[in-house]
Amino acid sequence: MSLRVIQYDEAVLRQPGLPVEIFDDDLRMLAENMLETMYEEEGIGLAAQQVGRVTRLFVMDSRPASSDNFSRCVIDGRELPLEIIMPLVLVNPTLETFGEPLTMEEGCLSLPEIRGQVKRPSQVKVSFQDLDGHPHLLECDGLLARCAQHEQDHLDGILFIDPERMSDSERTRLKPEIAALRESTRRSLG
Ligand SMILES: [Zn+2]
Repeated sequence: MSLRVIQYDEAVLRQPGLPVEIFDDDLRMLAENMLETMYEEEGIGLAAQQVGRVTRLFVMDSRPASSDNFSRCVIDGRELPLEIIMPLVLVNPTLETFGEPLTMEEGCLSLPEIRGQVKRPSQVKVSFQDLDGHPHLLECDGLLARCAQHEQDHLDGILFIDPERMSDSERTRLKPEIAALRESTRRSLG
């Protein structure tokens, strides 16, 4: 079942997620619905807050966009093709960053049509649990590392347009679009 994607600046986007403690059918259903929603909206990542859930879970599938943004991807010490690894469901992830910062254009399903340059480290290690609660380690670079950092931020209530992530000049450039989106969200929620 496809879910409504929460739009900027609905309050739930700013709420840090609570750790997942129960690995049950409800959690599996949430992950399945989030993947379906992500594919329908043509995104490559989606965090629980973006479907109104205050919990520490995100999903990713970089295959639709990976042709010109090759990501090296190692799971539990084994380098595997994206076809085998994707889609990824990451529960209770914690993230470490490495490597040279890179500036890339980002977007977000909760801020449709707003795209801006964001500087982030180029490599990540993400410790996470799968839907059965088993621990794993994801090491990656490229687009997938970018996506993981963006989604991890959602779990902490941080958005890519925030001053911690985006330069003042980029924020100034996007200000009218962000204000218009905020207004349209308010109107649509009545
Ligand atoms: Zn986002």
